[in-house]
Amino acid sequence: MPLAPIVDPISSCAPPELDKTAPKCRLLVVKVASRCNLDCSYCYVYHAADLSYRKQPMVMSDATIDALTQRVGNHCRRHRLPGFTFVFHGGEPLLAGPRLFRRFADRLAAELPPETKPRLCLQSNGTLLTKNWCDLLTELKIGLGISLDGPKRINDLYRVDHAGKGSYDRVRAGWDIAKSCGLQPGLLAVVNLDADPLEFYNHAKELGPRSLDFLLPDGTHETPPPQYSWSEETTPYADWLLRIFVAWVAEEKSPFRIRLFDYLMRTILGGNDSYDNFNQNPNEVMVIESNGDIESLDVLKICRDGITQSAANVHSHELDQAFDNEMVQLYYNSGKNLCATCQNCLIKSVCAGGYLPHRYRRANAFDNPSVYCRDLMKLITGIQNWVALNLPQSVLAGTDLTPVTYAEARSHILAFQNVPTL
Ligand code: SF4
Ligand code: SF4
Repeated sequence: MPLAPIVDPISSCAPPELDKTAPKCRLLVVKVASRCNLDCSYCYVYHAADLSYRKQPMVMSDATIDALTQRVGNHCRRHRLPGFTFVFHGGEPLLAGPRLFRRFADRLAAELPPETKPRLCLQSNGTLLTKNWCDLLTELKIGLGISLDGPKRINDLYRVDHAGKGSYDRVRAGWDIAKSCGLQPGLLAVVNLDADPLEFYNHAKELGPRSLDFLLPDGTHETPPPQYSWSEETTPYADWLLRIFVAWVAEEKSPFRIRLFDYLMRTILGGNDSYDNFNQNPNEVMVIESNGDIESLDVLKICRDGITQSAANVHSHELDQAFDNEMVQLYYNSGKNLCATCQNCLIKSVCAGGYLPHRYRRANAFDNPSVYCRDLMKLITGIQNWVALNLPQSVLAGTDLTPVTYAEARSHILAFQNVPTL
């Protein structure tokens, strides 16, 4: 059923020619289920400042799927997008049941313009995967990502169910089913400093993922990450990641892509990829809650209750209308909205102030460097120097790479902040 016409200030005021600079969305994180069968202690949905999940329907309704796919079709036509990505997310998206995914795919096929190619991905905790699920994902061409933080001893520290029981064995069973069905899931892990980095890396090699991506634990200047220290001399997350980087680049044949390292190396060489943890480019990403609300980045919920709420909903608004929301705009331009310190940083063209939620402080919101500033600086300068030393001149010649050491980059920032150097 077509949506009721809405007052759309964007399309009604737009000149006949396409405005290529108009903000747009190319990726939606779709919360098809708002609850989870696990209860990970660090979960930003259920254990952070925001409690809005309680008001959300458990599962996205057919009416919301229909409205959402229609709005995306309109958006792709309006911006003439050649591709559009959906990431099914939750809670645990498999709790939505297989029928929802079939309906979504059917509606999408009907609503997307022929020139827009959809890309579908699903991020799961893996515990509910069965052969039937894997067959459905294969049939609907939905790429699979599974969250697992490392070997059982490490994963089960935080990734537990509602009875407090570790999830590793169930995730591993789901992982093995997926592999036996011919899927090659991506692996998503939250960095845990209690793990030995090489033990983590070897465990990942044993799993054989398509790709590996890391998340830094959620944290702000008010609620710093685990094992955080204000000491100028500590960079535990960079040290942990760099040990994996060194092992990974020493491989004769890379066992899998590591998105974080790939992105940093490409950007250091002058590439223009997009990755919202460090993005210079606009973050063309929005979140659809299970009731159809169109919101900014969900991880911002670690900052304060209700921070991502917006007045836009797919039942009444086009995606473009969500850009009226302050947080949607702030996240879209998070690589440009930098504090004075980041603007003076020698590696700002790669770091871009880091991930927006990690900059938060109650007193001045996002006008801060990342709470991970020292770690990001050490990680980026470490990779930058490796690139400068190890890549062939033929690759480096066309770039304007000028490596700096961590000490140089740090002293520069401390001098700007008028802090005596050590
Ligand atoms: S599996 Fe994901 S959504 Fe579920 S509790 Fe854990 S972190 Fe949260
Ligand atoms: S390293 Fe620190 S100062 Fe530099 S851009 Fe990143 S967060 Fe800002």
